[in-house]
Amino acid sequence: MNSPALEAHVDLSAVAHNVEILRSHTTAQVMVVVKADGYGHGAAQVARAALAAGATELGVATIDEALAVRRDGVGAPILAWMHSRGSDFAGAIDADVQIGVSSPRQLDAVVAAARVARRPAAVTVKIDTGLARNGVAPAEWDQLAAGLAKAVAEQSIVLRGAMTHLVRGDEPRHPENDLQAQRFDEAVADLIRVGARPQVQHISNSAATLMRPDLARDLVRPGIAVYGRSPAPDRGDFGLRPVMTLSAEVLSLKKIKAGQGVSYSHTWVAPRDTTVALLPAGYADGVPRLMSGRLRVQINGRGFPGVGRVCMDQMVVDVGPDGGGVAEGDRAILFGTGAGGGPTALDWAEAIGSIDYEIVSGIRGRTVRTYS
Ligand code: PLP
Repeated sequence: MNSPALEAHVDLSAVAHNVEILRSHTTAQVMVVVKADGYGHGAAQVARAALAAGATELGVATIDEALAVRRDGVGAPILAWMHSRGSDFAGAIDADVQIGVSSPRQLDAVVAAARVARRPAAVTVKIDTGLARNGVAPAEWDQLAAGLAKAVAEQSIVLRGAMTHLVRGDEPRHPENDLQAQRFDEAVADLIRVGARPQVQHISNSAATLMRPDLARDLVRPGIAVYGRSPAPDRGDFGLRPVMTLSAEVLSLKKIKAGQGVSYSHTWVAPRDTTVALLPAGYADGVPRLMSGRLRVQINGRGFPGVGRVCMDQMVVDVGPDGGGVAEGDRAILFGTGAGGGPTALDWAEAIGSIDYEIVSGIRGRTVRTYS
């Protein structure tokens, strides 16, 4: 069978390997973060592979994401922590989705849904210890703690957990990490004092799991490392294996003359007679237009530069005057494991001043995901 013209291949054995690496750094349980459709890798497929490798829970941003994972047949504990006024708390309770609560108003809405459902909601309180984004703000903390204690006493909720998220997990010795852990411990002590003891506590993302094992409480919440990307590339790869390889078919080859411009606005002009290869990948598929002139692809083990503008659905590669041994139908690796000096998602990220989280989670459009 032919490979798809534009393929994101997801290596689930690498997911298992990466979960094992994470587990070797901690005795805590592992909640694998599969938000944004598993950082672009497929939430349910990654979830199954990670659970088989010893992860015990899943984390996502929204209830809709959690319900999609449930619809795909994954029954493991799952927590969703970011909500709007329209979020389906009743649906979450019904599908055994734990609800992250970040404000007294959210708690009220969850309690109301639990009353209608006639069963307690499983709640994790999300505590803002410094990030100043999602999570209960310090100014609302006392009110929320009292509300949680009341809801626990009334059996409207079960307080499954307490969590916070780090500002600088990738700078393991930065004092902010310790300050956040201290604020978190104080908040948990407040909860216990008012009679709302969380069953599990969690702080650590991938970076902290790998570099600050002392911050792990009952559970760690890695995302990017599961996908084989280093959470701190300046500190190495931690033995992680990249999970996604993006490749495209060489659709056609074309001989062009020196002086011929390529793609919109002719931002690249052939300096010599050469051969260019056409690939069916563009910015609508998640190849940033900013990568124009910065792409390097690997075909049959050899590296070739992308030339001219990346377009909505195509891009062009210079395979050299002798055609580089490239034939129509060959596959070009756009990014992957880096084997043989091939391009990686980190190369893309560094080329455009981003992080590889953005690259892998942005792969979309006509890309067909395959698994092995
Ligand atoms: N926990 C929360 C609340 C998150 O938002 C994220 C992702 O941003 C993670 C854990 C996982 O972080 P990382 O991918 O850096 O491991």
